[in-house]
Amino acid sequence: MSKTKQPLDWGNLPFAYTKTDYRFQAFWEDGSWSEGKLITDSNITIHEGSTSLHYAQECFEGLKAQTAENGDVLLFRPEENAKRMQKSAERILMPSIPISLFMKGVCEVVNANYSWIPPHGYNASLYIRPLLIAHGDNLGLKSATKFEFRVLVSPVGAYFKSTKLEPIRLAVSEFHRVASQSTGMAKIGGNYAGGLLATKMAKEEGANEALYLDAKEHKYIEEAGSANILVLTKDKQLVTPDTDSILPSITRKSIMTLAKDKLNLTTKTRAIALMEEINSIQEMAACGTAAVLSPIDAVKMNNTWYTLPDSPKVGPIMSELRTMLVDLQLGKIQDDYNWIYKVDIT
Ligand SMILES: *Cc1c(COP(=O)(O)O)cnc(C)c1O
Repeated sequence: MSKTKQPLDWGNLPFAYTKTDYRFQAFWEDGSWSEGKLITDSNITIHEGSTSLHYAQECFEGLKAQTAENGDVLLFRPEENAKRMQKSAERILMPSIPISLFMKGVCEVVNANYSWIPPHGYNASLYIRPLLIAHGDNLGLKSATKFEFRVLVSPVGAYFKSTKLEPIRLAVSEFHRVASQSTGMAKIGGNYAGGLLATKMAKEEGANEALYLDAKEHKYIEEAGSANILVLTKDKQLVTPDTDSILPSITRKSIMTLAKDKLNLTTKTRAIALMEEINSIQEMAACGTAAVLSPIDAVKMNNTWYTLPDSPKVGPIMSELRTMLVDLQLGKIQDDYNWIYKVDIT
């Protein structure tokens, strides 16, 4: 494998799809998974009657590979993504991908596309998108019998254009993402098409993303389009919503652990009534693989922008948590939790 890099403008990559050389593909049929292999074709040939097209029988994951200062290629808690993908699949009657197959697909595709992994120091990464889709020719509303697991990758820059250290703004959407006891905890395609319009409307209002409230009372914070929410109260508690209708973010879980262990903050998972509590919020942030930890400095609801105390600056606690997370993911500080996974580059 060539150790040279692609001639890309690493410091100005968009968060978008760039075609790389290889993707990983495995099939589930007659009750078992094929071994899987690397392929070069970025197209998927699929039957017109496939349930992934008609009924969104599809789930996905998102993680990233980054280059450490010493050149090591690092993943962050990839087995958590593997386990979450199993849960997503189970929810929509798709076959579970063994953790070993997930890890094999991810590692092989990262290694094979080494030249596309952004070098250290550009605030960029190789975004990894595992995908599980239903093939087949059944028009009826029932599960397919043939499935494809694919892992594709793309070099990407920051998700929110202004992430470098500028805060983002969210606008509360009149729409709801999902209801309780629904599919919000699963990373499945069906949860996202409905959010495209909400995001577009939020952007038209001058926000970076939509913020969803709960579907029952339109009162409690749920999450943003692709990121969970963290709130630091004025009495220094780091709070995150307690709900079964958001995607359980691995980034959020990790930040809560760091906040408790390293910053000695009190962390709580509880319902957060946005309007009622807005005046007791000191700092706020969105978090996820793509968003990393993006501080929020203003929220729009009921046609009013509410600006947080540190605006337009980033609050000190969110700033510290972000630095800690980024440094940990880049292998700059000691990994006390065994969260870092080094990919063998051959
Ligand atoms: C993927 C995703 C997140 C972030 O999860 P991470 O594991 O931190 O990447 C948050 N919300 C939604 C809706 C998502 O799809």
